[in-house]
Amino acid sequence: MSDRPLLMIPGPIEVSDAVRDAAGGPPPGHLAPALIEAFGASLGMLRRVWRASSDSQPFVLPGSGTSAMDSAVQNLCERGHRALLVNTGYFSDRMAEMLRRRGVTVTEVKAQPGEAPDAELVRGALASDRFDLLFATHVDTSTAVRVDAEGYARAAREHGVLSVFDGVCATAAERFEMEAWGADVYLTASQKAIGLPPGLAMLVASPRAMKAREALTVAPTMSVDWHCWLPVMRAYEERRPAYFATPATGLIRALAVGLGEILGGDDDPARAMSARFALHERGAAAFRRAWRELGLTAVPQRPALLSNTLSALYYPAGVGPELLGEIAARGVVVAGGLHPELAPRYFRVGHMGHVLTRPDAMRRGVRAIGEALAAKGAAVDVDRALAAMEEE
Ligand SMILES: *Cc1c(COP(=O)(O)O)cnc(C)c1O
Repeated sequence: MSDRPLLMIPGPIEVSDAVRDAAGGPPPGHLAPALIEAFGASLGMLRRVWRASSDSQPFVLPGSGTSAMDSAVQNLCERGHRALLVNTGYFSDRMAEMLRRRGVTVTEVKAQPGEAPDAELVRGALASDRFDLLFATHVDTSTAVRVDAEGYARAAREHGVLSVFDGVCATAAERFEMEAWGADVYLTASQKAIGLPPGLAMLVASPRAMKAREALTVAPTMSVDWHCWLPVMRAYEERRPAYFATPATGLIRALAVGLGEILGGDDDPARAMSARFALHERGAAAFRRAWRELGLTAVPQRPALLSNTLSALYYPAGVGPELLGEIAARGVVVAGGLHPELAPRYFRVGHMGHVLTRPDAMRRGVRAIGEALAAKGAAVDVDRALAAMEEE
């Protein structure tokens, strides 16, 4: 890993050697027996990683996180529907725009950058009007804020409102219990905490969500339509091939490997996912101890809001976006600010998936950031930051 830059952005992320090998090489045909097995097995594993019920419907589509968002919006909504959208930043704005393009009336509960509405506020908003759907971003990639997805999902259920969570920066890393919390759609993309190269859009829909698709009067764009893809998903899960549009076959071969790594060979999904969530909690906590030693403060304004998948950190006084080049010169790639109101004032460090299984890579990230800060004149003790990572 040392002769090429270490990717510590909030996606794409570093992938394991096994995932890389599975994604590379000649693309399998969509009728190849090994592909049929990988596709079918992946759909089953998606339910386990999502902690979804056995009657929920997984979809693996060609595309990115944005395609997964489009798929959810278009299959659940049409003109005349009313949505409550919890807006925590950049990707919530995108979701709002998608909903409006579909003719949905959108009411936003908006938070200051670095904040998130608590579940009581969302419950109150749901009670104040008639809504069909609730949309929220589980971890906002522009601020590193994690919302109370459980509280929101339960509030939506109490009001008979479908809940949809953009998990693109959270799925398979932050606790999410789709069945227990009564959430209706949880969506993501392959290049974030799933730990694959970019190219797959993924989501699981509850039986309630599938019914909402049935009730639509205006069909979605075909490339994201659950009706078009459902026979394909069902067939592969029964280990038969089917065709609607060409799946990303090489990536699906890698998906079976990546989801297998996440579940870690444990046949109890609750235990497997608890271990996976704990890995991210521990990793994020180690990074936070390092940031504190380096004098960096987080954009999320309360500890309960700090995500485990990325850190959003204000530049210290006298330092600005030129820090990113200093970090890159030390072989580590981090991301700039993304929230429209704050962008030039902070940077973002992704810590999802594979990197958390590599203490050497974690230290390399902290060292590069610490040394870059020192090069920019900040008074930092890099060795103390590295030592702090070890203290639990
Ligand atoms: C990355 C991201 C997206 C967009 O995903 P793309 O794969 O870039 O289309 C959407 N929502 C969240 C929360 C994200 O982190």
